[in-house]
Amino acid sequence: MESRVALVTGGTGGIGTAICRKLAGMGHRVVSNYRDRARAEAWQAAQRAAGIEVELVPGDVADPASAEAMVREIEARVGPVDILINNAGITRDTTFHRMTATQWREVIDTNLNSCFNVTRPVIEGMRARGWGRIVQISSINGQKGQYGQANYAAAKAGMHGFTISLAQENARFGITVNTVSPGYIATDMVMAVPEEVRAKIVAQIPTGRLGNPEEIAYAVAFFVPDEAGWITGTNLSANGGHYMGW
Ligand code: NDP
Repeated sequence: MESRVALVTGGTGGIGTAICRKLAGMGHRVVSNYRDRARAEAWQAAQRAAGIEVELVPGDVADPASAEAMVREIEARVGPVDILINNAGITRDTTFHRMTATQWREVIDTNLNSCFNVTRPVIEGMRARGWGRIVQISSINGQKGQYGQANYAAAKAGMHGFTISLAQENARFGITVNTVSPGYIATDMVMAVPEEVRAKIVAQIPTGRLGNPEEIAYAVAFFVPDEAGWITGTNLSANGGHYMGW
């Protein structure tokens, strides 16, 4: 497959790092955004030491103007984005009756509105070139809901509606749009959950363990090659059997 430009939002995070490495290993030119330059450059140096080259551009995916500027900078410095992985995400967990408007809005802006903010400046170029791959990183909790995560589950469920609509609109332009829904993965996001809560979660997972970021990167990579061109508007659950519905 020819080498293409891949933008992985939140590429410096736990799952994002594994996706960047996987796509770079497939021969693509991988770019990630950052918000904290020093931290991102330290991350980039660590990837380089492991033989993985990832370009960095500044960008806040929750901010439409910043996301558009990020895409334009990638186009100027690296080339047009053919592969977009909408991966950046946050949690602001609390039960709904305690949730503030800020906690709601931050999660919706970062996890769902980001899909608009980043995909909008990318989609016209993909349509003009007649090829594109877009993958949303949703969550098991967007499928089944989760106590204390009304904001997060709403955003992650919203990604599915976004995916299947975009898939319909763009299928004739060689663009596939799919979602990967990870279960609980051993990244900072999950390791921040109190240990006793984590133990209860693991007890519900048929595989009896948390997933690892490489297992999510593998699911993402499945959608990228030319051979995956018939697969669009679908959701791939990668959750150790924790939730087996769509
Ligand atoms: P991390 O917290 O490790 O990484 C999140 C990444 O998103 C970081 O690089 C962070 O950058 C970036 N980010 C957050 N907000 C913004 C923003 N406004 N603009 C740009 N970048 C931003 O999370 P994970 O790797 O665990 O999660 C990655 C994705 O997978 C998320 O969408 C998450 O919801 C989803 N997911 C994770 C699961 C898990 O078990 N870990 C399970 C299911 C889904 P910065 O360093 O600047 O904060």
